[in-house]
Amino acid sequence: MFNFILFGPPGSGKGTQSVRVAEKYNLTHISTGDIFRRNIREKTSLGLKVKSIIEKGELVPDELLIEILEDAMDRAEDRHGFVFDGFPRTVQQANDLKAILQKRNEHVSLVLALEVNDDEIIKRLLKRAEVEGRKDDTREVIENRIRVYNNQTQPLIEYYGRNGTFASVNGIGSIDAIFNAICEKIDARN
Ligand code: ADP
Repeated sequence: MFNFILFGPPGSGKGTQSVRVAEKYNLTHISTGDIFRRNIREKTSLGLKVKSIIEKGELVPDELLIEILEDAMDRAEDRHGFVFDGFPRTVQQANDLKAILQKRNEHVSLVLALEVNDDEIIKRLLKRAEVEGRKDDTREVIENRIRVYNNQTQPLIEYYGRNGTFASVNGIGSIDAIFNAICEKIDARN
C-alpha cells in the first residue's frame, strides 16, 4: 500500500492536489477538514463540538482526530492506500497515525510538503473567503491558523525528515505544474 501525507500550511493547495493524487494512484482521500465541515453542516454532535474551535482557527483536540481517522480508514474501499490531507497536524497525531498504520501492518510511505510563503497564503485565503465564504477565512483567523501551523504543525517536518520519508515541492505555479512535480516525487519512490 502507498500511504501518502500531503503536508503544508493552510491554503497551500493540499485539498486540490490530494483529490488529483487520489484519483491517479487509486488511493482513498481522507481530509480531516472536510470531515469536520461536513459534520458542522449536518449539525452532528461532533460538528457541534468542533464548530467554535475551527471558527477561531485553533486545532481540534488530538483525541477526536484518532476516532475520526480510524472510522474513515475502516470505511475505505479496497484501494492502494491513503492520501492524508490536513492530518497529522501535531506530533501526537503523527505518533497516533504511526500506531494506527502499524496495527494494519502498514507505514507512512511518503510525506510531501507544499512550500508556499505566508504572503501568498494570506492572499489565497482572502480570495477563497470571497468565493467560498468559509468562516475561518477572515484575516484575523487566517493569521491565527498560520501561527498555529508554525507552532504545532511545522515541527513535523523534522519528525518525518528524520526517517527519510520527507520531500518537498514548490507550491507556487499552475495546478498542473504542481501536480506534475508531486507525481514525479511519488513515482521516484514507487
Ligand atoms: P486548511 O485550509 O486551513 O489547511 P483544513 O480544511 O485542513 O484547513 O482544516 C480546517 C480546520 O479544521 C483547521 O483549522 C482545524 O481547526 C481543523 N482541523 C482539520 N484537521 C485537523 C487536525 N488534523 N487536527 C486538528 N484540527 C484539525
